[in-house]
Amino acid sequence: MTESQVGRVRPDEERAWEALVATARRTVADGLVVGTSGNVSVRVGDTVLVTPSGVPYDRLTPDDVTGVGLDGRQVRGTLVPTSELPMHLAVYRTTDARAVVHTHAVHATAVSLLVPELPPVHYMTAELGGPVRVAPYAAYGTDELARNMLAALTDRSGCLLRNHGTITYGASLDQAYDRTAQLEWMCRLWLTASSVPGHTPSLLTEGQLAEATERLRGYGRRT
Ligand code: 13P
Ligand code: ZN
Repeated sequence: MTESQVGRVRPDEERAWEALVATARRTVADGLVVGTSGNVSVRVGDTVLVTPSGVPYDRLTPDDVTGVGLDGRQVRGTLVPTSELPMHLAVYRTTDARAVVHTHAVHATAVSLLVPELPPVHYMTAELGGPVRVAPYAAYGTDELARNMLAALTDRSGCLLRNHGTITYGASLDQAYDRTAQLEWMCRLWLTASSVPGHTPSLLTEGQLAEATERLRGYGRRT
């Protein structure tokens, strides 16, 4: 750590930073963002580690740990924290999230231009808490965008941001990332099915989604 850095980086923060950088790199490798678009954060105690603004993820090193308090004050590092701090902090202040992933995934962003809510075309809708809403547009990095996002996230672990992208949260970086990947996949599915001329995609009922929610609770566990 250099003299100019704020705060002392703890070992648990070093590990969390490594996982955060790996997740941010995955968003590029998996085609969910291009260049320095998108951002990732992870909560360690009351410190929120975030990707720095405008820095390519492959350039980030263990010395670049960047963190803020829940009030947005910088407590780790000297790089500029992501411009989307208002969205990330709003999620941590109002939910039990431990990680947040924001991307500009192309199918999800395309859906955000077309409908106020992603139609429930697949049971993985239940993984996001129900049909995924689209938050009204506001300029990136603003408190207004964070407010619009929070409303769209009511009882959901993810939403779309109109003309912008996705945001999801979870109990871990892996869970937040997986929810983004599933959301992008469902958007692609709906776009694919709804672009067949003369056909309308069939949708799941509330009862079918409730059943999927129950079954997903036991997913991957022996019963
Ligand atoms: P940052 O580089 O500041 O994180 O911004 C990227 C982005 O996606 C803004 O919405
Ligand atoms: Zn963005």
